[in-house]
Amino acid sequence: MKNYDAVIIGAGPGGIFSAYELIKNKPELKIAVLEKGYPLNKRHCPIDGEKVKSCISCKVCSIMNGFGGAGAFSDGKYNITNEFGGNLHEYIGKKEAEDLMEYVDAINCEMGGADARLYASEDPAIFKECLQNDLHLLKAKVRHLGTDLNYIVLENLYALLKDQVDFYFETSAERVFKEDGKTVVETSTGELFAGDYCILSSGRSGSKWMESVCEGLGIPTQSSRIDIGVRVEVPFETFSHLTDKLYESKIVYRSKKYQDRIRTFCMNPHGVVVNENTNGIITVNGHSYEDPSMYTDNTNFALLVSSHFTEPFHESNQYGESIARLSNMLGGGVIVQRFGDLIRGQRSTEDRIQSGFVKPTLQATPGDLSLVIPKRQLDDIIEMIYALDKVCPSTASDDTLLYGVEVKFYNMEVEVDGSLETKSEGVYVIGDCSGVTHSLSHASASGVHAARSILQKLAL
Ligand SMILES: Cc1cc2nc3c(=O)[nH]c(=O)nc-3n(C[C@H](O)[C@H](O)[C@H](O)COP(=O)(O)OP(=O)(O)OC[C@H]3O[C@@H](n4cnc5c(N)ncnc54)[C@H](O)[C@@H]3O)c2cc1C
Repeated sequence: MKNYDAVIIGAGPGGIFSAYELIKNKPELKIAVLEKGYPLNKRHCPIDGEKVKSCISCKVCSIMNGFGGAGAFSDGKYNITNEFGGNLHEYIGKKEAEDLMEYVDAINCEMGGADARLYASEDPAIFKECLQNDLHLLKAKVRHLGTDLNYIVLENLYALLKDQVDFYFETSAERVFKEDGKTVVETSTGELFAGDYCILSSGRSGSKWMESVCEGLGIPTQSSRIDIGVRVEVPFETFSHLTDKLYESKIVYRSKKYQDRIRTFCMNPHGVVVNENTNGIITVNGHSYEDPSMYTDNTNFALLVSSHFTEPFHESNQYGESIARLSNMLGGGVIVQRFGDLIRGQRSTEDRIQSGFVKPTLQATPGDLSLVIPKRQLDDIIEMIYALDKVCPSTASDDTLLYGVEVKFYNMEVEVDGSLETKSEGVYVIGDCSGVTHSLSHASASGVHAARSILQKLAL
């Protein structure tokens, strides 16, 4: 049995910032971080566009797992806001949540991110234009590190932490249990790690595992939300008047037909559309690079419809998985369709995609999204595309590409208190696996918050 003051599961932003805050304030602490993925420099997705064209479902996905977590090759957009990205403010208060996000931003800048631009999505003229078209622009500040600068920040954070924190890579936590007042973590190889405190930060990819941990420790959970939609790809110029000023515009629309809320998510000017593998299911995502030499001619963003389930159904993630599986079954992965084909009720084919003016940045299977996405969500998406067309003309063009499906799996919400501690004493659940956060900045901030709670207890 290896003994530590704190054992952290997961080296994503949540885990990294917990370790950072603990060690910065109390360098004498013994801290272990168990991470089932690889160190940053060994994380390589085998898709090279030539020999390996699509996801081969590696045992450990280098996109989702390893130092830096799901955020390592992400667009590195740190949104400083309580408007989206999680509900951390509901647990710790609005001001505290924003202060923590600013704190994380300052550390990222110190670690090499200072040259990244800080955008404010508060342009009054755009806000008004959206409003006049029944579109609602959410206010936020966003530091866009970009995939390249984000990587450098992570490299520097690792260099700073590695001599003070014991990192165990390729080490998957299997079981978490209580023994003699300590929290014991058993790994897949049977190794045991005991901590006075344990911070669970296994992210979205570790959501199934978290369910079993909560069950074992008697920590209450609930699961009821799922976001389903598509990734839209348009020429850069279609959204340039928004993206040049705001970079990331989060726009919400309420559909006339169903009164559902649909939102834009993760907007990537000059970006690329990518595959995402969650528990073996291939969905779609997107990112972009800060380096102009990596720019594409397109902008991509997701359009997501939130569904909240009530009695008797609680398995919202299974609902999302079933829809994603359907697209995997029909398309062998992600399906791409031109908006015009969707409206005309015909599938897209290789020829139709090739003849379009928008060149896809992801090699996906041309097909028919209406065979995959439920009518309600598809109607919502189409309605919002027409609404966006009023503010960004040509969004509803024939050649606009829709990739499906994009699913935002929400982890079940774990019952935690204002310190993010569970009813199992000394066990904290933070980041995306808690259901409290869904973003880099909220996950990182939640890590700092839990660490500060532990530091306070240690000071008593
Ligand atoms: C392609 C992509 C782009 C994104 N872009 C953005 C963006 O621009 N802005 C933004 O705000 N958010 C973005 N996100 C979301 C963001 O990455 C996550 O919200 C954030 O990483 C959550 O941090 P986390 O620490 O909670 O979890 P994660 O980053 O998921 O980290 C969890 C870690 O725990 C490890 N783990 C899981 N289970 C175990 C186990 N049993 N034992 C040991 N280790 C385990 C995993 O390997 C992983 O490394 C993006 C996500 C993806 C996939």
